[in-house]
Amino acid sequence: MIEIAGIGLHTGQKTTLRLHPEPGPVRFRVQNTEFRPLSTHVLDTARCTVLGLGGVRLMTVEHLLAALFIRDIWEGLLIEVSGPEIPILDGSAKEWLEALSSFASTPIPPQPLETSLRVEEGRSTVLAHPAQAFSLLVTIAFSHRKIGYQQVECPPTALSELASARTFGFLSELDALRSRGLIQGASLQNALVFGDTEPLNPPRMLQEPVRHKALDFLGDLYLAGVPYCGRFIVHRGSHRLHVDLAKLLQPPLT
Ligand SMILES: [Zn+2]
Repeated sequence: MIEIAGIGLHTGQKTTLRLHPEPGPVRFRVQNTEFRPLSTHVLDTARCTVLGLGGVRLMTVEHLLAALFIRDIWEGLLIEVSGPEIPILDGSAKEWLEALSSFASTPIPPQPLETSLRVEEGRSTVLAHPAQAFSLLVTIAFSHRKIGYQQVECPPTALSELASARTFGFLSELDALRSRGLIQGASLQNALVFGDTEPLNPPRMLQEPVRHKALDFLGDLYLAGVPYCGRFIVHRGSHRLHVDLAKLLQPPLT
């Protein structure tokens, strides 16, 4: 059993996770309620992905789920959570990937896509096309001059390179989000924060924001319940659109 503790990005509350090797599909246990990370259990997608069942809510699951996607772990893990939100740790999936390294990969044959799928909202689009193998293209466009247009292409061999890309945000949005009860746990230790002209802390890599967006997409795509081979293209993605795609993909699982 592996134990990891930290604070939640949005709640600021300390939460402890215990990763137990257990037969059966990957699942969460929160307050004696167990549920699988599936799109049917998504309760909210504003600023983070929230899962839950029967009155239990678990916020900001996406980076842990991205690590499960990258490690190809679908079975043999029970994730016991003591609080309302998965710890943000350093804002990336790096520590989750390390924590999961003692669990075996449990690959499932990727499901083929029978047809192209598209979900969109405003200028945001997520596409999935039938293909022989998994690949991902993600683009973002922000007016901030230190971000602008960015794109990242991710063949399967490059997925683990996304894991260290951190959550990012803007100093100009801080007060508004805090006043809505969000990002109570945000700091320069767990996010790349952009001031009006420059980042307040150094980026870890080139194009860290789009790499983090790709990481978020993998976490939300995990909610389809099984892997898919296909060409995935995400333009200005959001948790809502990612989850909408996972809902179209998810076979009837509980
Ligand atoms: Zn994220």
